Amino acid sequence: MVTDRLRTWIGETPRLPAFVYDLDALSAHARRIRDAVPIEVFYAAKANPDAPVLRTLAPHVDGFEVASGGEFRHVRDVLPEARLAFGGPGKTDAELDLDADRVHVESPFELVRLAAKRREADVLLRVNLAGEREGAALAMSGPFGMDPALIEECHATLASAPWLRLRGVHAHLASGLDVPEAVALSGEILEWARPWAEKAGVDAPEFGLGGGMAVDYASPARTFDWETYGREIARLARPGETLRIEPGRAVTAYCGWYVTEVLDVKPAHGRWYAVLRGGTMHLRTPVTKGHDQPFEVFPGRRGNAGSPSVRDAEVTLVGQLCTPKDVFARDVPVAGIGVGDIVAFALSGAYGWNISHRDFLMHEPPGFHYLASEVP
Ligand SMILES: *Cc1c(COP(=O)(O)O)cnc(C)c1O
Repeated sequence: MVTDRLRTWIGETPRLPAFVYDLDALSAHARRIRDAVPIEVFYAAKANPDAPVLRTLAPHVDGFEVASGGEFRHVRDVLPEARLAFGGPGKTDAELDLDADRVHVESPFELVRLAAKRREADVLLRVNLAGEREGAALAMSGPFGMDPALIEECHATLASAPWLRLRGVHAHLASGLDVPEAVALSGEILEWARPWAEKAGVDAPEFGLGGGMAVDYASPARTFDWETYGREIARLARPGETLRIEPGRAVTAYCGWYVTEVLDVKPAHGRWYAVLRGGTMHLRTPVTKGHDQPFEVFPGRRGNAGSPSVRDAEVTLVGQLCTPKDVFARDVPVAGIGVGDIVAFALSGAYGWNISHRDFLMHEPPGFHYLASEVP
């Protein structure tokens, strides 16, 4: 799991904690997705908008999905040529002025406000079928997009604003989907969206099928089966239409590591704790997802004589924050861990640093390192 290049980097006495991104591994992973998936792939920038990450992905994706004016300007800046689809609830007037290649419209009122700009724009209406479906994986119910009754209110606005080009329908209904659920969900979206788009008179319609492909934090070596997914999606596709997905997590999770070192080891009330430099203010992922972040321990670089360690024990890995919530992983069996050892948390490339409350307690920020034959 740990790449040779990461192992070498760890051996070079780096300043810790640090985020380390293996860009060659990212490039290979993105190429795998590109080769397997026969429809358009946009990368959801919010999963990790780090500039070298975006540049590494650019040759392998059809575009980028951005969810704010800030993301829009950032991705434009890093990749001026990239196609951008702009979604997200509560767009401001300034955001509605941005010349995205596609605007995902979230409500009838948003469409009215966009129409009032009297500028040309290519729009997909975001539909929310969440309330109509059953299934535990559903996460995106709530104020995202329009339910099928509300979306009907868009017809009048579109009819009176010919500068708006209706291109199709967009949906992003769930996350944490494995292949069968993702394919089934896409099928349901298309079943609803195709007749709707036809009735609305859309030529060569586009259907955004969303992201949400699963990352299994309990089995870091098991990736989403893009090959099977690609074959199944190919069977759903029809000539004359464009299908598009916008995965984030399953694209960048694997390329990133949060690497840090053990500052202290001690028992407390029957539990072993390893206290690590840094904390979940840098890598909030395990707290938000409620999982154990997978990790590997590397033997200490300082060989501190007399410093505490523990062997063959279940250990809880915590950070430097003064809160019991600062837990990376709980009661995980380890062969051995001691002060000065290095811990590398895997699957830290998506929703890691950029979702974290980085200034809480004002510890030193992490460093950032890019492992690649050539950093873009
Ligand atoms: C967050 C988001 C995505 C990406 O979701 P992942 O779970 O990271 O694949 C795609 N589309 C929209 C609209 C989103 O909000």
